[in-house]
Amino acid sequence: ENSANVKRKRVSEDSPGRTPPSQLQQKRIKLLDSRKQLPIWQRQKDIRDALRDHDVLILSGETGSGKSTQVPQFLLDQPWCRFPGKIAVTQPRRVAAISLARRVAEEMGTPLGSSSPASKVGYSVRFDESTSPSTRIKFLTEGMLLQEMLRDASLRQYSCVVVDEVHERSVNIDLILGFLRQLQTRRKGLKVVVMSATADVGSLRRFFAARLPEYAQPDQKTTSDRSQEDDALETDANDASWHGFSDEDSHDSGSDIATCHVEGRQYPVVTQYLDTPTEDTIEASLHRIFQIHCKEPTPGDLLVFMTGQETIQSLQKLIEEYALGLTADYPRMLVLPLFAALPQAAQQQIFQPTPRNSRKVILTTNIAETSVTVPGVRFVVDTGKAKVKQFRNRLGLDSLLVKQISQSSADQRKGRAGREAAGQCYRLYTEEAYKSLDKDNTPEVLRCDLSQAVLTMKARGVGDVLAFPFLTPPPKEAMEKALLQLLELGALDEHGKISPIGRKIARLPLTPALGRVIIEAATPEMDCLVEAIDTVACLSVEHIFLAIDTEEGREKAQVARRQLLRRQGDHLTYLAAVQAYAAEPSDRRRWAEDHMISHRAMQSVMDVRKQLTAQCRQAKLLQKQEAHPAADEATQERIVKCFLRGFSANVARVCPDGSYKTFAGNQTVAIHPSSVLFGRKGEAILYNQFVYTNKAYARDVSVVQLRWLEEALQ
Ligand code: ADP
Repeated sequence: ENSANVKRKRVSEDSPGRTPPSQLQQKRIKLLDSRKQLPIWQRQKDIRDALRDHDVLILSGETGSGKSTQVPQFLLDQPWCRFPGKIAVTQPRRVAAISLARRVAEEMGTPLGSSSPASKVGYSVRFDESTSPSTRIKFLTEGMLLQEMLRDASLRQYSCVVVDEVHERSVNIDLILGFLRQLQTRRKGLKVVVMSATADVGSLRRFFAARLPEYAQPDQKTTSDRSQEDDALETDANDASWHGFSDEDSHDSGSDIATCHVEGRQYPVVTQYLDTPTEDTIEASLHRIFQIHCKEPTPGDLLVFMTGQETIQSLQKLIEEYALGLTADYPRMLVLPLFAALPQAAQQQIFQPTPRNSRKVILTTNIAETSVTVPGVRFVVDTGKAKVKQFRNRLGLDSLLVKQISQSSADQRKGRAGREAAGQCYRLYTEEAYKSLDKDNTPEVLRCDLSQAVLTMKARGVGDVLAFPFLTPPPKEAMEKALLQLLELGALDEHGKISPIGRKIARLPLTPALGRVIIEAATPEMDCLVEAIDTVACLSVEHIFLAIDTEEGREKAQVARRQLLRRQGDHLTYLAAVQAYAAEPSDRRRWAEDHMISHRAMQSVMDVRKQLTAQCRQAKLLQKQEAHPAADEATQERIVKCFLRGFSANVARVCPDGSYKTFAGNQTVAIHPSSVLFGRKGEAILYNQFVYTNKAYARDVSVVQLRWLEEALQ
């Protein structure tokens, strides 16, 4: 079985892997009681019957009703599930996939993942796979299921695919739904469960009910670059000439689809709004957190919804400083951040019981909105904002924007306070502001760059991507733009067919642009793959340099990081940091502190680096492994050129007045203060990220020569 392209053993302190069997069973029996309390427990017969009689089950139910943890367990012993026997459960986030796998393993009394060959529950997330030969339930991120589909389009090892959290409507979820929809027309007996935290499932029902054109025999053309595996994929090619669906053409056979709604058990939650709006959500959160902590006699943990790693870390620092001023009469505050880039061990802390005489204050991104259930929460503080990916037409790329959340997200956040007892939710915005929010989240396909999605489809043999069955068809222009970008990257040929380079990129767990950087770096002319991997690893975790807000702090950081800073820009600076950290033989934590670098972020970089290296070796991209001597100027130039090959659209040139204007869209951008190039000038800059706060900023920036750009595009 070659699905395990990333094998990784990871056994943490509390992993069931080290626990003797008798203890596993004790734990299982203990947990059975709490499982029986879950609202979904009463519905297990309905769920089993539904899937005995139908191929698709659409299951809605409130967050915490037990969908993700219980449904796979209910289905495991069903006759239809005996062969091939595996159940895949997709999750939007790695944090959720890992923590659910851990939990379900405990509930079943089985060791987790690769810790034992007898383990029945495993997980697979980007850069980390933990499964065993006996794995029956596998939690995996959506991206990983799409990767598995590249290797086996028919998902032959699975009897059932559970698509969880579909209300999030990410591009990956929509792709999976489309592929499964097609797959079910030719793999009879494959069961699909679609789960949502919102009860509005009409469009899902229509989607699965609509008739797809009969599966057509694909043409059997073979070209020299195709492997046998690729030929196998072609069985899927063009099996739908599909043009969206509407109520009119929907055909509900009535027998294929079952729906089921699980009532949640929700205690009342009192909502409080601000009287006047505030701009400073960090300040407002800080104030509210201490008010709750000091004035609320009820025990219970706090869950604070912030926008991202940076705001979370700033707030964490402030809380910890202020908490020093509290007398011993108050419970101790245990501040725990929760965001995707956080290393696993730190994430697991969230689920540990709150120690006596203390209160957990969990600072989270929207991870904890529906996909991760944190026990013990009685108070929710909601800033009303989230960072979302959005395509910016004028720039021609995705950027992360801080946006108002939808009413449905706000209500989910509020619900987190009332899971175990009555709770309170403090919204740091006015009631009028709440009323003016969008009702629901916009599906990601309507607002994001589709190049990765289109490449995935192409790699899966979909010829006409405009005809793919999308739950919400994306705008035609967005699809065309993605096709064009892939053409520019050399991932497609001029006929729109996937190229050998495109196939290689599709197998890397990176965006097409970053994938292209890796492929370029592996060419004999560029010959800097080791360095490119280090740099890409660094760009894949959020930020390694600790955020600094003061001028004084900035000067201090300049001194502390002096040896790492490279005048050519952030890419080579990151590379220097990764190389120095990796070469540090003894106390890496100390090294990170001395250089004002996040040790945690660096640990994640090391994880990613190791996995990417393994994947490049497997893909035969990486032959030798030595890095070039650090001071080699020629290599440095080649590294930046590789980035230019992947990101040729992200170039801005300097104007006479000293500002930068992008080539695509002629938009003014400023170099972000976090960049080593902040306050400096070059002929042109290349950037990996575009962020918009009070103005447009380029982040992760390097100086380039316009001449290089011409070369890259030849
Ligand atoms: P849903 O999918 O409906 O949101 P889940 O199955 O995720 O519900 O959660 C059901 C219950 O299982 C939660 O109430 C929570 O108490 C418990 N649970 C889930 N994951 C974990 C975990 N990693 N650690 C401890 N408890 C968990």
